[in-house]
Amino acid sequence: MKRLPLLLASLVLLAACGKPGTPPPKGPQPGALPTYQVQNASGIQGSPTLDRARARGRLVIGVKEDQPYLGQKNPATGQYSGFDIEIAKMVAADLGFGPGQIEFKTIASANRETALQNGQVDYYVGTYTINDNRKKLVGFAGPYFIAGQSLLVRKNDNSIHGPQDLDGKKVCSAGGSTPYQRIEQKYPKAHLVSYDTYSACVDNLITDQVDAVTTDNAILQGYAAKAPDELKMAGQPFSTEPYGIGTPKDDKVLRLAIDDALARHEQNGDWKKAYDATLGLSGVPAPTPPPIDRY
Ligand code: GLU
Repeated sequence: MKRLPLLLASLVLLAACGKPGTPPPKGPQPGALPTYQVQNASGIQGSPTLDRARARGRLVIGVKEDQPYLGQKNPATGQYSGFDIEIAKMVAADLGFGPGQIEFKTIASANRETALQNGQVDYYVGTYTINDNRKKLVGFAGPYFIAGQSLLVRKNDNSIHGPQDLDGKKVCSAGGSTPYQRIEQKYPKAHLVSYDTYSACVDNLITDQVDAVTTDNAILQGYAAKAPDELKMAGQPFSTEPYGIGTPKDDKVLRLAIDDALARHEQNGDWKKAYDATLGLSGVPAPTPPPIDRY
């Protein structure tokens, strides 16, 4: 069962109402988003995943739905937006699928590998760290972005400045994530709490049920930007999280075609335009995209 991030959603709504004279709320502006020309992809042959997508007439892409500026679903319209969503769309265009031929499916961190393994999604774009353990189960195109594990705390908390301050504190993260595993292994004196989603952790932080939320800075910056009176980031990033596009493990043709697509959109400026219109709105200027690791 998905748990709706009710409290956070209501805070965001409150912020959206605004006080007179305050600037409009930050958030992906659909008008500013690039569009991606759909390519003739008939030359891409030998991908079982793509063959299935072609036969059904649409791509099914796994994403997140509660990560502001990255992957967020508008509950009223059902539309998804954010940087990961743009990455998913630019890649789809190079595989021959326009926006009307994409079905986004929300998949939580802990379920990504199984979703790719049992064909629930054709590929996955959602703050998905590339690492050797996961590579035993799935493939990774990219990386297309580098994040780092960080901490989110309540605005009035001055006791946490880094993971070394988590002893005896309640720290929340998503099950199956690399940040959860890192706290479990390296900071065993922290009291770890897990939920399916980071938005559930953030709700628990705002209501004093936990003391900190830990995951990638890119994700936490979005929550902090949406509720600046309640939340703040604490300390510096303490890991390297290269984001890849998850693919079925043995579909090398698909993985390399996605690498090609990423490289093309990085070179033609789409990547930066997409970043500026989405994740950039959480306040961090566009970095240079990392080199792609083809294997
Ligand atoms: N990048 C980390 C991971 O893949 C944390 C973010 C997430 O759970 O999506 O586990």
